[in-house]
Amino acid sequence: MSAEAIRSNLLRVRDSLPPGVRLVAVSKYHPAESILAAYAEGQRLFGESHVQELQAKRPVLPPDIEWHFIGHLQTNKVKYIAPYVSMVEAVDSLRLLSEINRQAGKYERVIDVLLELHIAAEETKYGLTLDACRRLLAEGEWRDMPHVRICGLMMMATYTDDVLQIRNEMTTAKKFFDEVKEAYFSDAPYFCERSWGMSHDYPIACECGSTMVRVGTTIFGERNY
Ligand SMILES: *Cc1c(COP(=O)(O)O)cnc(C)c1O
Repeated sequence: MSAEAIRSNLLRVRDSLPPGVRLVAVSKYHPAESILAAYAEGQRLFGESHVQELQAKRPVLPPDIEWHFIGHLQTNKVKYIAPYVSMVEAVDSLRLLSEINRQAGKYERVIDVLLELHIAAEETKYGLTLDACRRLLAEGEWRDMPHVRICGLMMMATYTDDVLQIRNEMTTAKKFFDEVKEAYFSDAPYFCERSWGMSHDYPIACECGSTMVRVGTTIFGERNY
């Protein structure tokens, strides 16, 4: 896709977001030039979901880009991105959380993370069930991890045209956020992020309490896998 098209797509998406909703431009499988086109339009927040790809792209791109790791992160790869990643959005186990804490400690950093919920009907999606997430928080080991900061929740709705189903799943996530906020983070202003909404459903997400939408295809075009 041309730089011009990317810039106009980006502006269109950004202008359609209500105040309080940030845009993560999902650049996975798109080249550095595409990222630069969005950067030229003022976009600084980008999402990637493969460690090797991010490692290859980052050095050739401006240093003030904020990288969110949005994909499934294997514990043995945390070490590569720990020096610079600004948020890990899809934490779905205590083991991963603990490894992020350990690696962040080596660089004297605090890494922001989101807990990924599994609410969608699809079986292949990663994430914690609501009960597993309740358990993880209740067990409390996360309280002894000074190098991670749990900033909120992330989820992917079922990939469907059924708007009602998407809305239900996102509303469930929002209610669960409120529950967790009250139980564990009522005095933690940084626990405020609700990351849901992708190309096909971000307008719905904006109506269902999202604070961060992750949009790729609508900005950069189809991915060549
Ligand atoms: C790829 C990806 C997106 C963006 O998907 P699009 O449909 O291209 O907008 C959002 N979130 C996650 C976790 C992804 O892996």
